[in-house]
Amino acid sequence: MSSTTAILSWHAHIYYDPAQTRGVAEALRQRIGERFAVQLGRWHDVPVGPHTAAMYQVAFTPEVFASFVPWLMLQRDGLDVLVHPNTLAPRDDHLQHALWLGDKRALKPDVLPLRIAAADESPIVPNTTPTLDAP
Ligand code: ZN
Repeated sequence: MSSTTAILSWHAHIYYDPAQTRGVAEALRQRIGERFAVQLGRWHDVPVGPHTAAMYQVAFTPEVFASFVPWLMLQRDGLDVLVHPNTLAPRDDHLQHALWLGDKRALKPDVLPLRIAAADESPIVPNTTPTLDAP
């Protein structure tokens, strides 16, 4: 198995400030859903898991990366974004393998397992109905 095929899926975590930039995050979320077959996660106005700021998650398959991530680079409208692969090694995926758009945020490493079983990796189930071509 090559290192590329070890990537089962991707997450983009879109950070925002509930008091300042939630509206920007809402607009970006809508635009993502109109353009890409991805799984949009719940709003987390209070930090959860390894995250230290409010965010929502966008989960997507490797096939979507090449169109979605470059679009997000240009369209994130000042929001900070963590993009990380899922390789069954959550701590490395977040801390070593990630890429950041905008400013790099602090993460809580202690809550990230070193390894998880393949059965514990959630499959991507897109919940959007894209109707527009990017951008
Ligand atoms: Zn994630």
